[in-house]
Amino acid sequence: MNVHEYQAKELLAKFGVGIPAGIPALTVEEAVAAAKQLPGPLYVVKAQIHAGGRGKGKFKELGPDAKGGVRLAKSVEEVEDFAKEMLGNTLVTVQTGEAGKQVNRLYVTDGVDIAREYYLSMVVDRATGRVAMIVSTEGGMDIEEVAHSTPEKIATIVIDPAQGFMPHHGRAVAAALKLSGDLAKQAATIAKQLFTAFNALDCDMLEINPLVETKDGNLLVLDTKMSFDSNALYRHPDVVALRDETEEDPAEIEASKYDLAYIKLDGNIGCMVNGAGLAMATMDIIKLNGEFPANFLDVGGGATTEKVTAAFKIILRDPAVKGILVNIFGGIMKCDIIADGIVAAAKEVNLQVPLVVRLEGTNVQQGKDILANSGLAIVPANDLGDAAQKIVAEVRKVS
Ligand code: GDP
Ligand code: MG
Repeated sequence: MNVHEYQAKELLAKFGVGIPAGIPALTVEEAVAAAKQLPGPLYVVKAQIHAGGRGKGKFKELGPDAKGGVRLAKSVEEVEDFAKEMLGNTLVTVQTGEAGKQVNRLYVTDGVDIAREYYLSMVVDRATGRVAMIVSTEGGMDIEEVAHSTPEKIATIVIDPAQGFMPHHGRAVAAALKLSGDLAKQAATIAKQLFTAFNALDCDMLEINPLVETKDGNLLVLDTKMSFDSNALYRHPDVVALRDETEEDPAEIEASKYDLAYIKLDGNIGCMVNGAGLAMATMDIIKLNGEFPANFLDVGGGATTEKVTAAFKIILRDPAVKGILVNIFGGIMKCDIIADGIVAAAKEVNLQVPLVVRLEGTNVQQGKDILANSGLAIVPANDLGDAAQKIVAEVRKVS
């Protein structure tokens, strides 16, 4: 789960991390009121979307010469103008994809006099099972680009969870940022605060880009992206409350309501499978036969009519879907019950695309009979290979 920049900064501030003063705003009036509460005379109006690269982004509605989603304003009037231009319009950045994202919230912050920009992030490194802190003097830039062209400018500091954040980690961060004296101390302090926040909030990613040195010698978090480990969200109701569903894929939200694991992909064959392993195998065999899956979908252990109906509806929201492959193993849930569910669901959603069903397991023959006698044009399949060949042939007929 991701949160907005202003929410992440408010969370970090609780751990003592320095951030510029700022106030979120949903309307132009709120943006103006926010600016009036800030000291000025420099303000920053920042589009709040779950994507980075806002500064260099472009608004679809504003033409190629207009500025992006992070703007420096020199007066309250300018804050008002920028808020009017941004709210309701669609910001396209390197991270949003071509469709862009509609800007529904702004963050109005105190403008900072920047001396230098740095980069600092943390991720869970699965190879070592530890938190890796990634630090670079090249802040404010696209870190992938830095990693590609000047990898020597990126330092990785790995922190042993049993030891925690030690003073030497702090010195390593300061050294990597080429800081000395008081700034080096500040870098060590802020790195420790960020590590503490990362652990306490069960983050899986925290990126500060840029971390800035102000002209008066302070280190501040100017921009941040934060995402949380969804398996640990039950421990953080305060974080869950920050969820902004308008930023998420509606199909994935719908799937989570029915406890279905759904991830949209780029192909044209919708998949409905029980069990993650079987779902992966189904996707592989579709690719082996020359087509691509439109999604990963695990309906879980209890493939009930209600769940199967919800799953069909979610798959069919995707206009790219030209056919559906159902591949279900009836173990605890028997095949005849599953077949009843599929038939009822296919009737309810008035299924128009070809449907191939492969059932295996307990009462498989009864299940197949139910499908065959349903009056629906369901194509039965005997095994995984047969199922993949049949659905590929079906979608090629229609496209
Ligand atoms: P991003 O484009 O989505 O990564 O948004 P950022 O918040 O990182 O802003 C992009 C860039 O705008 C930063 O790298 C800064 O160079 C600039 N910027 C943002 N806030 C301020 C500010 O308070 N003062 C100044 N001078 N520049 C800022
Ligand atoms: Mg940034």
